[in-house]
Amino acid sequence: MKSFVFSDDQSLVPAIATFARALGDVDIYSSGPASPAIKKYGALKIYIVNDTNLTDSIADLLASRMSKGEYQFGFIASTVNGRDVAGLLASKSNAGSIAEISSFELAGSSTRTKRFFFGGKSILEEESSSRIFTVSPGIVEPREVGTESPVEQVSLSPSRISVLSSEEKKSGGVDIEKAQAIVSIGRGLGNKDKLSAIEPFASAINAVIAGSRPVCLDYHWLSEDRQVGLSGRKVRPKVYIALGISGQIQHIAGMRGSKIVIAVNKDKTAPIFEECDYGIVGDMFDVLPRLLDGMKK
Ligand SMILES: Cc1cc2nc3c(=O)[nH]c(=O)nc-3n(C[C@H](O)[C@H](O)[C@H](O)COP(=O)(O)OP(=O)(O)OC[C@H]3O[C@@H](n4cnc5c(N)ncnc54)[C@H](O)[C@@H]3O)c2cc1C
Repeated sequence: MKSFVFSDDQSLVPAIATFARALGDVDIYSSGPASPAIKKYGALKIYIVNDTNLTDSIADLLASRMSKGEYQFGFIASTVNGRDVAGLLASKSNAGSIAEISSFELAGSSTRTKRFFFGGKSILEEESSSRIFTVSPGIVEPREVGTESPVEQVSLSPSRISVLSSEEKKSGGVDIEKAQAIVSIGRGLGNKDKLSAIEPFASAINAVIAGSRPVCLDYHWLSEDRQVGLSGRKVRPKVYIALGISGQIQHIAGMRGSKIVIAVNKDKTAPIFEECDYGIVGDMFDVLPRLLDGMKK
């Protein structure tokens, strides 16, 4: 059994190649130049394509190789380009595609996969005949093998997509990875207007405001570059104050390096209390003014 791994971001290749290798032989596709790191993960061959923006051309190449029976499965890094390639490839190969899998096993002629659902609150287990999968970053610990993989350059056919214009993503102008103090808000905030209740507290302690994924990505109460977590920024401040954040593993992955963690949550069973140095069970809108008063005194 042979699979391919595609990632336009070479830093994601080691984990996905390790993940796919558990199944059998693997070829890696990426854009070059091939870093020494990606040669260490046991691929039979590393194919370096000339331009990763050519998502339709990469999908053409992989579809043609799949149709010749070269690959049974494709595992693709869940990047912006990766997700495009997965969709295009699934349609060109008439193969189903499943996004952001966290586990994979064969079940007779089908596959059984798991992925997070409802923003990570549930795990969805699916049995299907899908052959294309995007894989979440950090899914397994990369494991090197003793040998180096050979590298081959591949030219792609011209893309049928032309980029008419592009725009820089708006940023909040703050690098939360450098902050010494962070006040991080979660879905417990309720709505964006209530940020005004948090700002005086954050500025009194000279902290920057960051947030969980729903706050930054789903509701846009904060800009995306303020998201802490597995798929966001990894922060290591001296003080991390988590307000209305439940403390799911994907969030913890981004703030575990913090020196002192203070959590305020009205649910005393919230997992964040397992991860903090000081925990306050209560409504953040009651707790914060009292903390601020105490600090002023
Ligand atoms: C592949 C993948 C990657 C992910 N990456 C990230 C990531 O990078 N970062 C991230 O954060 N999440 C990430 N998630 C989502 C993650 O699984 C959780 O869904 C998310 O962290 C939950 O955000 P939350 O704690 O703000 O919301 P919730 O889980 O809804 O928690 C809200 C909390 O607020 C409390 N609360 C409500 N009102 C108040 C109040 N007035 N005062 C005090 N407490 C209150 C509640 O008791 C609850 O505990 C990812 C998920 C997946 C599947």
